[in-house]
Amino acid sequence: LGLSLLSANVFAASPDVAGDDLPKQKHDYQSDVARLRKIVVNSLYSHRDVFLRELISNANDALEKLRLTALTERGMLEGAEQLNITIKAVKDEDGPGRIVITDTGIGMTPEELTKNLQGTLAKSGTTEFLQKAETSTDTTGTGNLIGAFGLGFYSSFLVADKVYVASMAAKTSKNPEPAQYVFSSSAEESSFEVYPDPRGNTLGRGTEITLELKDDALEYLETFKLTDLISKHSSFSSSFPVYLHTQR
Ligand code: ADP
Ligand code: MG
Repeated sequence: LGLSLLSANVFAASPDVAGDDLPKQKHDYQSDVARLRKIVVNSLYSHRDVFLRELISNANDALEKLRLTALTERGMLEGAEQLNITIKAVKDEDGPGRIVITDTGIGMTPEELTKNLQGTLAKSGTTEFLQKAETSTDTTGTGNLIGAFGLGFYSSFLVADKVYVASMAAKTSKNPEPAQYVFSSSAEESSFEVYPDPRGNTLGRGTEITLELKDDALEYLETFKLTDLISKHSSFSSSFPVYLHTQR
């Protein structure tokens, strides 16, 4: 399984990914996307465990993509960090409980953050999914739909009020000087924002997803809950090392 448990006090005050004072580019979700987000948040409560499997699977994809791209982009892996996934559970006294999932994969440019994180619903099958999901009263059926269509990144909003995706694309000949950007969205709003990361380039390469947990989802901060979920879905999880950090 390749899961390692680490206990460390690594969450000392860090500059804020929220960047409340920054000017931000605001985007409206496509209307289908807005509809699907509502369905996700309102009707899939009993399936909300899937968020972790989906985010680990995305991290794994990003690491695979990096490995593939590195075959033709010489030097991409040179001096770069190891290929891995880190999951942190953060319980702050002041502020919301957070889960932070970081990978050292291919990363996303600001354009890709905008397009890819709302773009999956433009894929064929979306309309079909919406029709089935909206007319389905059977939650098991809806659960199967999630599996078949791969709800993916949206499942974040099952457990989070607010999601930040900070990403730094890998250096390539086409993109020799990438910069770290943040995509942020809350469960309720019909828009999302993309802006330069106020913390600067902290990732080196890859993607960091911060979930600000809903008040009724704080159980996911518990180590046993996280390890249980990761092992339960081990067939979906990663071929790269997964490190789980919990606070001392
Ligand atoms: P899918 O994985 O089926 O494509 P998702 O909703 O899970 O759909 O993810 C949408 C897209 O967002 C992915 O295809 C990928 O391009 C991008 N993405 C999501 N997570 C990451 C990540 N950790 N690193 C790089 N790209 C990502
Ligand atoms: Mg996915």
